[in-house]
Amino acid sequence: MMDLDFDKNHIWHPYSSLINPPPVYPIARAEGVRIYLEDGRGLIDGMSSWWSTLHGYNVPELNAAMQTQMEKMSHVMFGGLTHEPAIELCKKLVALTPEPLQKVFLADSGSVSVEVAIKMALQYWQSQGKPEKNRLLALRNGYHGDTFGAMATCDPVNGMHHLFASQLTQHLFAPAPKPKFDEPCSDEDIAELQQLIEQNHQQLAAVILEPIVQGAGGMRFYSPEYLKRVRQLCDQYDLLLIADEIATGFGRSGKMFACEHAGISPDILSLGKALTGGTMTMAATLCTDKVANGICNGEAGVFMHGPTFMGNPMACAVANASIELLLQRDWQQQVQNIQTQLEEELAPLKSAAGVADVRVLGAIGVVEMKQPVDNRTLQESLIKRGVWLRPFGKLVYTMPPYVISPSDLTTLTSAMNETLSAL
Ligand SMILES: *Cc1c(COP(=O)(O)O)cnc(C)c1O
Repeated sequence: MMDLDFDKNHIWHPYSSLINPPPVYPIARAEGVRIYLEDGRGLIDGMSSWWSTLHGYNVPELNAAMQTQMEKMSHVMFGGLTHEPAIELCKKLVALTPEPLQKVFLADSGSVSVEVAIKMALQYWQSQGKPEKNRLLALRNGYHGDTFGAMATCDPVNGMHHLFASQLTQHLFAPAPKPKFDEPCSDEDIAELQQLIEQNHQQLAAVILEPIVQGAGGMRFYSPEYLKRVRQLCDQYDLLLIADEIATGFGRSGKMFACEHAGISPDILSLGKALTGGTMTMAATLCTDKVANGICNGEAGVFMHGPTFMGNPMACAVANASIELLLQRDWQQQVQNIQTQLEEELAPLKSAAGVADVRVLGAIGVVEMKQPVDNRTLQESLIKRGVWLRPFGKLVYTMPPYVISPSDLTTLTSAMNETLSAL
């Protein structure tokens, strides 16, 4: 048996207390869409381990890619050296992402890729002789990561700002986009963001946002037209657009990248989470030729970033295998099927007393409650029904692996229906 007492007394978990630690469940192994508790019970992972395990767990193709690469070279520094898995991965990323994105920086985690994106934007304007363009415009309800640069762009109310206010760069925030995914965007819907840009563009380097799907900051889906208009405003006022597709990348919203819903391309793009199919930590920041040339023609002459484990060969190899698997399988159909089934099976919750809203986009299903839920009790009753979810606040949501079977998905939505309609 695992030493859960030691865990409780010594180990930080994400956003946890070591004085009053929430329960953590011991997981012994994982297979397909299930994670298995130490006592042998299998739980359907409705979270895809935080948006990442697209193909499920213990996937032979991904295991083989890691194994093969491990036996050749598990790691080598990226400074002054290169290798085939990295070249292949960057080729794939350049080919998959919108055409203007041509240059790739391999980073070690999502937050780092956001730091890199911000640094690119700042260094770009410095190189243009406009160092005063050093602030960002972000959206309320946004989430971009936990490191300081990223944290400064998260929602100023629910994003930890007050705790670290004195250490955070003070950026500008526009209201969260109001028009929903299937709604048009009126002049009024964009007015405040437009005004912030009109009044501050001389000191703004970039707009940073999660395209179409705001994830951890509220699980909201917004209008592609809104995104289109942000892109237009960035062009008009000479700002860069940073798209954080760490959660949405690789098909989750129904398009390979959520920007495609609006037919736009950002100047800088952050990817992470599903990049390696949920096997190893790795992220990437892509940028246009314009941004890269701007940076490299500047005073520094180089881009000022380079983590120790940059371009880790095993992570690159398994990312390549994951992308190949995604493209081989009909991911678009898989995601469409999940969307249809989530829409049907979560619909009954719309009329439940405690439910404020039910929304689905791609392989993402969200139930927003009227009151914050008691996580412990809810998780326990979900686990009894063979399901793993991690609700937060008023939000109970799922983004299952694309390979989930219709019957497993029904188990998942039934568990949500039964536990949430009782609240
Ligand atoms: C998860 C996430 C991040 C941070 O990625 P980490 O790998 O946790 O550092 C940043 N932006 C978005 C949109 C995310 O969903």
